[in-house]
Amino acid sequence: MSIVVVGTVAFDTVETPFGRGENVLGGSATYFSTSASFFTDVSLVAVVGEDFPEEHVTFLHSRTIDTTGLQRSPGKTFHWSGRYGFDLNEAQTLDTQLNVLMDFRPNLPESYRDAEYLFLANIDPDLQMNVLEQVRKPKLVACDTMNFWISSKPDALRKVLQKVDIVVINEGEARQFTGESNLVKAARQIISLGCKRVVVKRGEYGVLMFTADTIFAAPAYPLEEVFDPTGAGDTFAGGFMGYLANTGDLSEEGFRQAIIYGSVMASFNVEDFSLNRMKCLEYSEIQTRYRSFKGLTHFEDITY
Ligand code: AMP
Repeated sequence: MSIVVVGTVAFDTVETPFGRGENVLGGSATYFSTSASFFTDVSLVAVVGEDFPEEHVTFLHSRTIDTTGLQRSPGKTFHWSGRYGFDLNEAQTLDTQLNVLMDFRPNLPESYRDAEYLFLANIDPDLQMNVLEQVRKPKLVACDTMNFWISSKPDALRKVLQKVDIVVINEGEARQFTGESNLVKAARQIISLGCKRVVVKRGEYGVLMFTADTIFAAPAYPLEEVFDPTGAGDTFAGGFMGYLANTGDLSEEGFRQAIIYGSVMASFNVEDFSLNRMKCLEYSEIQTRYRSFKGLTHFEDITY
């Protein structure tokens, strides 16, 4: 089954302790769709400006991503600048230039409107709602957000969170949105808005997935070299949703496997700047890392 994703396609300027990338390809929808494309067909809804180079669109096509819904508007592409310190867990936003995003009114191509899987990646919650309303009968809808929208559009964001099946959110943002420092309580509060599942991303500490009566925890894959955490969350979400759309298995077991595929994809993405690692990733590497992940977390039941 295919996934429709709405989010940003961006230029990022990123500084980490290991280097700097200026105006490199980024954006929540770019990372999400590239990651999901290893598992299923992906249709992208986003906007770029006149300055967006054709080579980036060619890259998306090379991953067989449908860009019929990628609009090119007069003006400049969305630009995000951020910096990471030594712990690499939290980005400090230095600047956000919405540019063409300000006037973006997505009009979904007819071929997108029957999508069964919909991901509302990090973008203006009004745009997330607009896209949600255009998809006729999705089987599974998930969404992400970040501090920028929690601060600037909390009411619009709350309305989106009330309409989705799964909320995928960073731990800091779960705390900020709920005003609750304990993550279990924060997740419960988000579930009480109406969704069935909350996936809390915790950077190098992994992921927690909550339903009303279950909790599943997965570590992040321990890596010796982490160069650039930008896009790890979106890449995680792409592997997670991509796997679910591929198998159609929405059982608890299926969701747990999807969490591991998401974590595997994120672990590759952070190995290099921008989408450089994803550009040369092979499916066989994903399967090999999934198996090492199983070894990493497997332990025997009580034996005495
Ligand atoms: P993450 O997976 O959280 O590291 O997402 C990083 C990506 O989010 C970057 O490539 C940015 O272009 C994009 N981004 C940053 N700020 C925003 C924002 N306010 N809205 C949407 N996307 C953003």
